[in-house]
Amino acid sequence: MTLTRFPRVPLGHFPTPLEYLPRLTAQLGGPRILVKRDDCTGLALGGNKTRKLEFLMAEAAAQGADTVLTTGGVQSNHVRQTAAACARAGLSCHLVLARAVAWDDPAYETSGNVQLDHLLGAQVHLLPPGTDRDGALRRMASALKKSGRTPYVIPSGGSNATGALGYVACAEELEAQADTDGERIDYLVHATGSGGTQAGLIAGFQAIASQTGVLGVDITAHAADLRGKVSAIAKDTLARLGGGDRFSKDALQIVEGYAGGAYGMPTEEMRAAVRLVARLEGLILDPVYAGKAMAGLIDLVAKGRFKDDQTVVFLHTGGMPGLFAYNDYFQEK
Ligand SMILES: *Cc1c(COP(=O)(O)O)cnc(C)c1O
Repeated sequence: MTLTRFPRVPLGHFPTPLEYLPRLTAQLGGPRILVKRDDCTGLALGGNKTRKLEFLMAEAAAQGADTVLTTGGVQSNHVRQTAAACARAGLSCHLVLARAVAWDDPAYETSGNVQLDHLLGAQVHLLPPGTDRDGALRRMASALKKSGRTPYVIPSGGSNATGALGYVACAEELEAQADTDGERIDYLVHATGSGGTQAGLIAGFQAIASQTGVLGVDITAHAADLRGKVSAIAKDTLARLGGGDRFSKDALQIVEGYAGGAYGMPTEEMRAAVRLVARLEGLILDPVYAGKAMAGLIDLVAKGRFKDDQTVVFLHTGGMPGLFAYNDYFQEK
């Protein structure tokens, strides 16, 4: 174990299951497809931020923080899970929410994640469109400091080297599961957004010399920016682990073309993928992340990206509360 020396607060249900998807595999007619159930990490309906928050909340505690601040879109899963982690730690929590998605479903600003943020007792600050959210976050943190509080600021998505340690842990966990089950995992496919998940996986697989390739399906529609973020966080994470910050260029693969027009804007392919997986496997994906990543995986299989004797693990990163903010879009017509 490379991670025991890093402070960590237990928040999640681990290991998450690794399950075979026989009906999806048969339908697509390509590689064996498994799902790593990081939608089942626990912590207020689960998702990939649980793993990051185990390390981030430990850092907040080590710094004596009494208040946690973070930011995201109105339907941010990261923000919802941060609110839950703060509730468990008894810390006050400020969420700076940006109207980042031009989506006018009446449920968008009241249901799903934002409903849960309020339920979890966080103080929600909804920014007017066009406000610089990182600036707002910094101003709020310094105002809190002046008033005698000790704030701890978590970046958007929990994506820095501390948060990424959660996905180093996931890489180790998956490798151990594959060993136990006698699986050889050729690729891990997942939604990549603020970069911490992919960076942690790249660093984690390298640290254990795994042969598994990581394919991050871009959901931001700004893949070039995202590549830079993943690269920077992966370097920082490797440096934290010790043994240098270098990784091979081939290890950082971002798959473009499945984000649609913008972050959070639904696509037909996403809706078809969400329906297909629900109906074949009883598995619920979300419209913003896992649904688009699955649309990417389905298309990559169709284009022959994988060999039939390979095994691909789809990392289900959670996000299901977001589905309810897109209620109209999923109505059967
Ligand atoms: C945040 C999030 C992602 C993306 O993870 P990053 O570390 O931000 O790249 C994927 N899926 C869901 C459901 C998320 O909430």
